[in-house]
Amino acid sequence: MSTLSYLLLGSNLGDRAARLARARAYLAASAGEIVEASAIYETAAWGVEDQPDFLNQVLAIATTLAPDALLAACHAAEQQQGRQRVLRWGARSLDVDILLFGNEVIATPTLTVPHMALPFRRFTLVPLTEIAPQLVHPQLHQTITELLAACPDPLPVWLYKPGNE
Ligand code: AMP
Repeated sequence: MSTLSYLLLGSNLGDRAARLARARAYLAASAGEIVEASAIYETAAWGVEDQPDFLNQVLAIATTLAPDALLAACHAAEQQQGRQRVLRWGARSLDVDILLFGNEVIATPTLTVPHMALPFRRFTLVPLTEIAPQLVHPQLHQTITELLAACPDPLPVWLYKPGNE
């Protein structure tokens, strides 16, 4: 039996769009079928603002992996692109987060699902609204559309134009 999980991809170093494409290929081979993918959005960097803009994309993936194994696959996708954690919220070649894992609520030392930042970041809610507007957050009991309408994050999110590296 598979679970529908939503993942957030982010990159703001090098050929960002190519990094997202490689991440999709890696996850499709290691984690499950990508049943839906949002458009790619470009967003101002959050937290540390003196750095390149991010590309972000949300994937819906049908996975038979357990949550910790899916997290390991996300980390492996990051490692494949040479991710180094230099600075918290700093520039990164690839970041892969688990936003939702079916309706599950998970709280372990290494994994919090739904992702804690989900209601607070437009760069997550805008692509997620595109592919799952009516999905209900299992803890907040609001749809993704409602969460976006209430989101206080002021940072702009816009559709990415390919070639804009
Ligand atoms: P980050 O720097 O955003 O990649 O996050 C670093 C750590 O957050 C990872 O090593 C995970 O163990 C932890 N973590 C907790 N919850 C999640 C989640 N929902 N998705 C991805 N990482 C998570």
